[in-house]
Amino acid sequence: MIFHVLTIFPDFFQGPFSYGVVPRARQAGLLDIRIHNLRDWTYDRHKTVDDRPFGGGEGMVLKPEPIFAAVESIWPERRAGRHVVLLSAQGSLFDQSAANRLASASELLLICGRYEGVDERVAEHLADEELSIGSYVLSGGELAAAVVIDAVGRLLPGVLGNQTSAAFESFQDSGHSEGLLDCPHWTRPATFRGWPAPEILLQGNHEEIRRFRKRIAQEKTARLRPDLMRPGGSPLPHGKMEL
Ligand code: SAM
Repeated sequence: MIFHVLTIFPDFFQGPFSYGVVPRARQAGLLDIRIHNLRDWTYDRHKTVDDRPFGGGEGMVLKPEPIFAAVESIWPERRAGRHVVLLSAQGSLFDQSAANRLASASELLLICGRYEGVDERVAEHLADEELSIGSYVLSGGELAAAVVIDAVGRLLPGVLGNQTSAAFESFQDSGHSEGLLDCPHWTRPATFRGWPAPEILLQGNHEEIRRFRKRIAQEKTARLRPDLMRPGGSPLPHGKMEL
């Protein structure tokens, strides 16, 4: 998959993609990340990307012209599988089912807002969807874009060393998570500061371990994320949408 990021701070992305599975996947050619400087599509001396909001009020708004020009020059054609996401506090929530859905795209183009936000015509006429990474306001879309790329990138075939590992993580419908939180994990030493790891995990009975993990995943979900449970105790089905 190719991820494109449109930003006024291209240097921001040097850190987030330098560690862990993403740079390895990049080197292996499993994904590509192309950072585009929005100011490259401005044609005045000051490379202006923003202007005052109509109707007055605080702050500045990113202008539509450079954003439309950038997307139309990165993709002269909008083919199936090419998907434009506007990062926005007003977007629908980016969660694991959104990550799974976006992982089936061939190219994603992520538009990072700044200041008071982005001229609404970008949301209405250019972006395929507006996504928020949570119900809080960030200073810019760059951190949100990095979150989306990390969460989607690790779902791509071959990116995680162990192909089954994404299926067994929190929020995934597959594997033992079944839409719940992952089960807690322990490692050596078997007893640390007097706190033992659960005995059952040390005994090697795979069927009992599977049942134990399912039970403690349900208990932890009910305790920390009751919103993921149905009243009867089973997980809520995850919404699935086509690109
Ligand atoms: N005035 C906007 C509002 O109250 O909804 C906030 C604008 S915010 C300061 C600037 C930019 O940060 C947004 O255009 C968006 O790209 C990004 N941003 C802020 N919060 C975000 C979130 N929760 N998820 C994704 N992007 C976010």
